[in-house]
Amino acid sequence: QQKYHMGIIFITHDLGVIAQIADNVAVMYHGEIVEHGTAQQVLHHPQHLYTKGLLACRPPLDSRPHRLLTVKDFLENENEELRIKDSADTSINSQFPILNSQLYKNSPLLRVSNLDVTYALETSIFGKVKKELKAVDGLSFDIYRGETLGLVGESGCGKSTLGRAILQLIEHSSGTIEYEGRRLDHLTAAETKSLRRKMQIVFQDPYSSLNPRITIGEAIKEPLQCHRMFDSDSQRRQRVLELMQQVGLSPEWYNRYPHEFSGGQRQRVCIARALILQPELVICDESVSALDVSVQAQVLNLLNDLKEQYGYTYIFITHDLSVVKFFADRIMVMEKGCLVECASSDELFRNPQQPYTQRLLAAIPRL
Ligand code: ADP
Ligand code: MG
Repeated sequence: QQKYHMGIIFITHDLGVIAQIADNVAVMYHGEIVEHGTAQQVLHHPQHLYTKGLLACRPPLDSRPHRLLTVKDFLENENEELRIKDSADTSINSQFPILNSQLYKNSPLLRVSNLDVTYALETSIFGKVKKELKAVDGLSFDIYRGETLGLVGESGCGKSTLGRAILQLIEHSSGTIEYEGRRLDHLTAAETKSLRRKMQIVFQDPYSSLNPRITIGEAIKEPLQCHRMFDSDSQRRQRVLELMQQVGLSPEWYNRYPHEFSGGQRQRVCIARALILQPELVICDESVSALDVSVQAQVLNLLNDLKEQYGYTYIFITHDLSVVKFFADRIMVMEKGCLVECASSDELFRNPQQPYTQRLLAAIPRL
C-alpha cells in the first residue's frame, strides 16, 4: 500500500487486525453502515450499540470471564446500567481454579506418547516412499476428563493432523494413543466402533462439512442411525429436535437445507451433529475461526454450557490465542510438529517459557 499508494478496502471480522492496519473504519450492520470514522475514533469511542457490542464480545486477554458478552446482550439490553452490571459479572471467574485442581486427580482420559505422523509426498512407481513429511514429530501429552485442552500453533504446524490421528481418521507411523488406558490400535472392530461414538470432531469449515442435499435435521440424525441408537425413527427425531433447541436452532428448521443458513447457524448444526451421540471427547478444529466475533462468542458460550451440563472433554484447536486463553484450562503450543510447551492457560500467558511462545503472544493483534 505504501509503495504503490493503493487504496485498500480490508473486509474482516477481526478487530485486532483492523486496529493494526486501518486508517478509517466503517461498521456494517444489517446491510447499512452504522458507524464511520477514523480507526482511533471507532475503536476507542464507539457510538453505535452494535460497535460497542462487537468490541465487548472479543475474549479479553487480561481476565478470564465465565461467559463472553454477545452483541445480542447489547442490542437487547438498551439499558446501559444493566449492561455494565452484566459485564462486571463476567469479569470475575473464581470457579476455574477450583475446578482445575479437581481435574487432574484421576488418570488421564487420553494419553498420547511419542506420536509420529508422516505424509508420503513422493512415491516411486513401485510404491516406495521417496519423500515424506513428518507432520507430527514425537508428540506426548495427556488430557483429563472434563478438561479443555487448547492446542495452538501457526498454520501448518500439524494441529489438524494430530486431531485426525487421535480420531484414527489417519494412521500414525509410530507411538501410541491410549484411551482410558487402552491402546487404540489394539482394539477389536466392535470396540473401535463403540469408541467412535465416544470421540467426535467439529471441523473447521461449516460450509464444506455438511452435505448440501441432506436437510439439517436428517444430518444431525444420521449418526444415531449409524450407531443404531433408540428403537424407532420417531424417537431419534425427537432427540434431534431437543438437541437443536439446546444449540440454539429452531426445531422448525428441521427440514431446511444447509444453504439456507448463515455460517454461525451451520456451525451449530455441525456441533449438534458431533454432540448427538453424547461423546466423551470432542475435538474442535478451528471450529469458531470462520465466525465473526459476536457469533464466535455465542458458540463459545454454548460449548461451555454444554460442557458444564454433560461433562465433555474438549481438545480445542485454534490459531487464535485470545480465544484459547478464555476457553482452555491448559494450553499446548506446537511448532513444526513438535511440542514447544504446555502450561495452564493463565500461566502460559503470564510467564511463557519458550521464545517461540513469547513470539506468538507478542504477535497477537491488540486494539
Ligand atoms: P495445521 O492444522 O496446524 O494448520 P496440518 O496438520 O493441516 O496443520 O498440516 C501439517 C503439515 O502437513 C503441513 O505442512 C501440511 O502441508 C501437511 N499436510 C497436511 N495434510 C497433508 C496430506 N494429506 N498430504 C501431505 N501433506 C499434508
Ligand atoms: Mg488445521
